[in-house]
Amino acid sequence: MTVVRPSVSHSGYAQTIDGAAVFSEASYPVINPATGVPFADCPSASKEELDRAVAAASRAFPAWRDADVQVRRAALHRFADAVDAEQDGLSAVLTMEQGKPLNRARDEISRAAEQMRRLSLIDMPTETLQDSAGRPFDVQYRPMGVVGAITPWNMPIILAMSKISHALYTGNTLVLKPSPYTPLATLRLGQLGIGIFPPGVLNVLAGPDELGRWMTEHATISKITFTGSVRTGKKVMASAAETLKRVTLELGGNDAAIVLKDVDPVAIAPRLFAGAFVNSGQVCMAIKRLYVEAPVFEPLCAELARLAKEVTVGDGFDPEVTMGPVQNAMQYRIVHEVLDEVLRDPQAQVLGGTQQIPAQGYFVAPRVIAQPAQTSRVVTEETFGPLLPVLKFDDVDEVIEKANSTRYGLSGSVWTGDLARATDLAQRMDVGTAWVNHHVGSDPCVPFGGTKESGIGRENSLLGLRHYMEPHVVSVRPL
Ligand code: NAD
Repeated sequence: MTVVRPSVSHSGYAQTIDGAAVFSEASYPVINPATGVPFADCPSASKEELDRAVAAASRAFPAWRDADVQVRRAALHRFADAVDAEQDGLSAVLTMEQGKPLNRARDEISRAAEQMRRLSLIDMPTETLQDSAGRPFDVQYRPMGVVGAITPWNMPIILAMSKISHALYTGNTLVLKPSPYTPLATLRLGQLGIGIFPPGVLNVLAGPDELGRWMTEHATISKITFTGSVRTGKKVMASAAETLKRVTLELGGNDAAIVLKDVDPVAIAPRLFAGAFVNSGQVCMAIKRLYVEAPVFEPLCAELARLAKEVTVGDGFDPEVTMGPVQNAMQYRIVHEVLDEVLRDPQAQVLGGTQQIPAQGYFVAPRVIAQPAQTSRVVTEETFGPLLPVLKFDDVDEVIEKANSTRYGLSGSVWTGDLARATDLAQRMDVGTAWVNHHVGSDPCVPFGGTKESGIGRENSLLGLRHYMEPHVVSVRPL
């Protein structure tokens, strides 16, 4: 394998506070998951730096709120263009800190820029309603003030750009904190915003989990938009309750895909495989449980196993690599714990996972696990790694019950040529999004978010934008 790392300097990462680069006194090392070795120092914000960022965002708020929506839209479009122009540098940093193959990092960056442009084209009208006597009421939607955004390590740029788009387009100002595992590309986003947004509108700080907790406790932050695990989401909500902050929580999933017997297993296997193993299985809305009707179970498992064996696992800078490492040592340990349980399960059959993987770094070969116990962790929990449980079923009503018997409710899918039946089954899934014959994907024009413990609120579309705004009712009557 040839690993050629682009020559990008990994020194001088700065936070963005009040339109200026801020080099913190404290720092910590960022690890390349393909080697397990630190490669850069990341600034670590102090509480005082958070206070300065929030104060700057608060000062910038009235003018940004009152700016014409066209001004905010134009600034976001200029920012998206700047991100696109910086794709080479940003993607190299993203692959280095996150591990994903370089072409996937490029794809994440260009999609993030395009989604920013499209979200900020959505019209945000005032509504006029009538009361029961026919008198008019205007419902305006107004920004909340300073928003705090907290993001995870799996898709750092697309998630950060989405939060920037929502918060800034609606007229809020922002303090953004990336995951401590993948802070560097997001810090670069902050620097790209200098000169495009007025000082204080976009602030980007880095630091450990504690910085996130300080944000949820901060009296001047009006809303937290959080993407991450269910466990942390609950802490965020509990802490935000102290100051009654609004919260949007985009949390984990344990998505089921249900495959009916009329499909051609060889034809759909690549799409199911991609839906499960995208980003080494580290996507909230990836397929995490595959339920397959008995007549196509064996051929589909065989085809998925074949695809798993074809994957080239390795350093994301090697152009032949199609799957990078899992992102960090803790996640690597969790995936191995789940796999160890599977290997002890007498009824589970482990398929794939046979290729050579580099000895160093957090690499896991992709595995398809046929018929694990319904109660095993690989079925009941969100593993967030390249392990796909495949379960056989005979009865469609029973399988819907199984798909729904989870605390998660992010998304799910049904695969069949019988679209009427598929639509009925999709409607019976307890999820925020049910797809028919596709899985994974989000669009700025379509609301996305979870039911049950997968989250609160929605992002994308007018509905998602309104989660960053407060309704304000104005009623005017003659004297
Ligand atoms: P995580 O919950 O461990 O961390 C997420 C962020 O929260 C990080 O920035 C972290 O520093 C911060 N944080 C940690 N403790 C905090 C606290 N007490 N208060 C405030 N902030 C705190 O999640 P992760 O492991 O980085 O990400 C993986 C999870 O994210 C998976 O469960 C995945 O499904 C989920 N996810 C969901 C979506 C979605 O849209 N629903 C998208 C991507 C990822």
